[in-house]
Amino acid sequence: MKHIILFGPPGAGKGTQAALLVDHLGFLHISTGDLLRAEIAKRTELGIRAAEFIDAGELVPDETVIGMIRNRLQEMCMVPGIIYDGFPRTLPQANALDAMLASRQEQIDGLLSLEVPHEELIKRLTIRGETSGRSDDTDLATIENRIEVYEKKTKPIIDHYEALGHHYPVVGTGNIDEISERLITVIKTRII
Ligand code: ADP
Repeated sequence: MKHIILFGPPGAGKGTQAALLVDHLGFLHISTGDLLRAEIAKRTELGIRAAEFIDAGELVPDETVIGMIRNRLQEMCMVPGIIYDGFPRTLPQANALDAMLASRQEQIDGLLSLEVPHEELIKRLTIRGETSGRSDDTDLATIENRIEVYEKKTKPIIDHYEALGHHYPVVGTGNIDEISERLITVIKTRII
């Protein structure tokens, strides 16, 4: 089973591209953002706690998201691969994921990072906030905080997988299909 992380700052297009990739490759899509929003919608205890972090543009604690991923991985079988979207977001999350996969004699096969300039991210997230109603996309200070948290806590994950020879940068601007083709080309020529 192949394990591919779709990486990038908030607004880079991970969710959009992950959906296209799973359609094309028959992989499974795991988005911690979607899993958390589902918990919030169901008003579970986990969801109620997570909402406070999400609305402030902060990260939900590592144990919470690592636990969600562990559950999903245990349920899983018979898929050719998994696309991780929004996970890992910290080095402890990356280490936990590596350990979970190592115990199955598997590993992360590629981290594809979507590269998008800062101004473009702000523009995309503001537009998304106007239509999606996502509380973390409607306030500029929250958006800026999420990008800052990405730079500080999430971006160092690139170096971790770069050192293992598994980092593939991809230009994240242009139209949606163009970007999708770039990702598929990298996956088909370098990963599977
Ligand atoms: P974005 O488009 O901003 O990347 P996501 O849907 O991936 O949005 O995540 C929305 C919010 O959910 C994040 O800002 C964060 O608060 C929380 N979240 C999602 N995934 C994680 C994770 N792996 N670790 C901690 N918090 C997370």
